[in-house]
Amino acid sequence: MTPIQMVDLKKQYLQIKPEIDAAVQGVLDSCAFINGKPVQDFAGHLSQYLGVKHVIPCANGTDALQIALMALGLQPGDEVITPSFTYIATTEVIALLKLKPVFVEVDQQTFCIAPDAIEKAITPRTKAIVPVHLYGQAANMEAIMNLAKKHNLYVVEDNAQAIGSDFTFSNGEKKKTGTIGTIGCTSFFPSKNLGCYGDGGAIFTNDDHLAAQLKMIANHGQRVKYYHDVVGCNSRLDTIQAAILDIKLKKLDDYIGARQKVADFYNKAFAGHPNITTPFTAGYTTHVFHQYTLILNDADRDALHNFLAAAGVPSMIYYPVPAHRQKMFDSFEGDSYQLPVTDWLTERVISLPIHTEMEAEQLTLITTKVLEFFKH
Ligand SMILES: *Cc1c(COP(=O)(O)O)cnc(C)c1O
Repeated sequence: MTPIQMVDLKKQYLQIKPEIDAAVQGVLDSCAFINGKPVQDFAGHLSQYLGVKHVIPCANGTDALQIALMALGLQPGDEVITPSFTYIATTEVIALLKLKPVFVEVDQQTFCIAPDAIEKAITPRTKAIVPVHLYGQAANMEAIMNLAKKHNLYVVEDNAQAIGSDFTFSNGEKKKTGTIGTIGCTSFFPSKNLGCYGDGGAIFTNDDHLAAQLKMIANHGQRVKYYHDVVGCNSRLDTIQAAILDIKLKKLDDYIGARQKVADFYNKAFAGHPNITTPFTAGYTTHVFHQYTLILNDADRDALHNFLAAAGVPSMIYYPVPAHRQKMFDSFEGDSYQLPVTDWLTERVISLPIHTEMEAEQLTLITTKVLEFFKH
């Protein structure tokens, strides 16, 4: 048995090494390190896969979110509604742009932003909602889009954890996460479901005008070289990363299938356990299991983490401190927020290893050890 890791990038690489090495060598031979052909090739393939008109590659997922918000022409102090239970990047870029993050609750079962909490937080200054498809399943995008329409708000989807997930509307129509809102954002950080071998990200939209704005902002605000229309930034996906992603995109659905099998195995092993709530998947979404996250009931989470670690089983807390309790947001009166569901989840979640190359023996060891912990 291979030692267990939360994500085993090495093992996955070894499976696809000849293709990857050839693609990287191709970029080295061309020396087109910036904006080489693979960048546009990959963007085209990703737009086909997602069924979205425009894919704008950029340097990382945080930049994707920042550029998306910059393209909407918001004014300092405009309010942006976002979950507190997320990775910090989602909320950080809002504050960085001098907008006001307004933290709201998540649904206790799905871990994603709760539409009724969004509605309560809407004020005349609200301009946008940033839902996060946390751990790999979609937030309730139908309800969110209805609210957005009703109150004339933009929706920027943080799809860093759910690329490939399908959302089904009540009329039966299906769309990929990240293609439903005004703009979608993703990250190709190595451990993400579609990860490269460095940093990378992308922005999606079906709106031609916004696509042009996004492209311009990511490229120093220029449409014509050396003529700069707006203050932008420098955010590019490099050619080597694009060449790697173009290969891994073809395998994404298989990779998702492998993750779902791992989740099934865990779900069966823990079904009905009094101390363990297994992940709930809402009926409107598929789950691509970027993380496999349990809620512990009546259990000492640190003790479980340490017990597993001693047996060679890693586990992680995503995330130990919700955004509204981060020092970073002191000036936004993070402490004044009452988010009991977020706090409750923060104290009880624990994520188990999940990736595309897990071995049967590893899964058996992990589930055996978790169950053994509760027998003490
Ligand atoms: C990873 C991640 C990001 C940021 O992506 P980077 O490429 O690391 O900048 C943003 N939001 C969520 C939810 C993420 O998981």
